[in-house]
Amino acid sequence: MLNYDVVVIGGGPAGLAAAIEAKKNGIESILVIERDRELGGILQQCIHNGFGLHIFKEELTGPEYAERFIQELYDLGIEYKLDTMVLDMTEDKIVTAINTKDGLINIQAKAIVLAMGCRERTRGALNIAGSRPAGVYNAGLAQRLINMEGYMVGKKVIILGSGDIGLIMARRLVLEGAEVIGVLARGGYAAGLGRNVVQCLEDYDIPLMLRHNIVKINGKDRVESVVVAKTDENKMPIPGTEETYECDTVLMSVGLIPENELSNNVGIPLDRGTKGPIVNQSMETEISGIFACGNVLHVHDVVDYVTQESRRAGKAAARYVKGELDKVENYIDIRPGKGIYYIVPQKLSKERLGGEPLEFFMRVKDIYQEAQLVVKAGDKEIRKIKKKYMTPSEMQRIVLAPKMLEDIEGPTLTIEVLEEEI
Ligand SMILES: Cc1cc2nc3c(=O)[nH]c(=O)nc-3n(C[C@H](O)[C@H](O)[C@H](O)COP(=O)(O)OP(=O)(O)OC[C@H]3O[C@@H](n4cnc5c(N)ncnc54)[C@H](O)[C@@H]3O)c2cc1C
Repeated sequence: MLNYDVVVIGGGPAGLAAAIEAKKNGIESILVIERDRELGGILQQCIHNGFGLHIFKEELTGPEYAERFIQELYDLGIEYKLDTMVLDMTEDKIVTAINTKDGLINIQAKAIVLAMGCRERTRGALNIAGSRPAGVYNAGLAQRLINMEGYMVGKKVIILGSGDIGLIMARRLVLEGAEVIGVLARGGYAAGLGRNVVQCLEDYDIPLMLRHNIVKINGKDRVESVVVAKTDENKMPIPGTEETYECDTVLMSVGLIPENELSNNVGIPLDRGTKGPIVNQSMETEISGIFACGNVLHVHDVVDYVTQESRRAGKAAARYVKGELDKVENYIDIRPGKGIYYIVPQKLSKERLGGEPLEFFMRVKDIYQEAQLVVKAGDKEIRKIKKKYMTPSEMQRIVLAPKMLEDIEGPTLTIEVLEEEI
């Protein structure tokens, strides 16, 4: 049995930031475990720019952003294991992992940080009719094949789903010489960031086909065509609107889901909205001493916020190991009110308020213009923020000063959208 104070599962931006912060807060014995062949997580395949605008005030590519943290990890002498898959962990914080060099290893940790990222939803989850030919890829897989492994995935491509990966891959495929017929969104707006719609589709004359869906995939060995139908206000196909598009490749960008097998196995309660663990403001799950951050907690659109959140998790893990994290007796539940899909963290303890401002991340359910985000403790409004434009694809952020939270009475804090004209 190996022994470490803090074990971080996942060596992406979340795991790197958490490990570095734990070290800076006085923990010497830290191990980062990564199943891939290198550190950096999903960023290693994101060779486009747009990373680091908030933290470094620079536009970096994914690998450049990751490199800064990897270098810091090396400089701080933090231990890591690559090509190592964590299979299980227990409530007592024994982590079981496997690799080809050490075989099966058991590690006793004092604190664990979960930073396993997320995975892509697949065709199987959508029940699209038709045959099962080659040429149907998840957009992130296609990104890895093109950017890291050196394989082109197709020549004439249609992209289902307008999430950020789909938008970025539309541009990437055009740059690599493919024809992109269009990017399909089931609803009336793109699921990805506005800046990606402009920079990846509009700048390259790639059609964004709102209110369209693929209803059938045709092809014997390889994709030959797809049948596309218009959708109604409930995102259901409208009979009689079907059109067939010839193509050899379908890319699916239809959602990301936090990697929650390990969390589930150990019995960590998950949030129905985020599909990641429920955490308090220390990023601590319902099992004391197990923390979570990054995309395993909720799917982020901007990596800078992953880093900020993960620093909080790393610092809290260090304080837990040093016995400085106050035991929580009473929680205030953070509830998504009208128009809000989810909020992270979901719990707040007055015992752990400290002197630092508290950051809440959330997603709205619909598009809102000239609305307000209202924070309420019971019926009492404690903060109101004007918002010109909010969409489900862009994560919203509210920072509350500790002073505002100290006076809260009652068991809940609600954040809701107020649609009145300002
Ligand atoms: C295609 C794409 C484009 C993006 N574009 C931008 C952009 O332009 N700007 C921006 O700011 N953000 C962008 N993002 C978002 C940003 O990259 C992510 O928010 C960020 O990478 C999430 O970090 P993470 O560490 O939580 O997850 P990841 O980067 O996914 O890292 C998780 C790591 O955990 C490892 N792991 C998982 N399970 C295990 C296990 N059981 N054992 C061991 N290791 C495990 C994985 O191998 C992985 O390396 C983009 C994301 C994607 C997918």
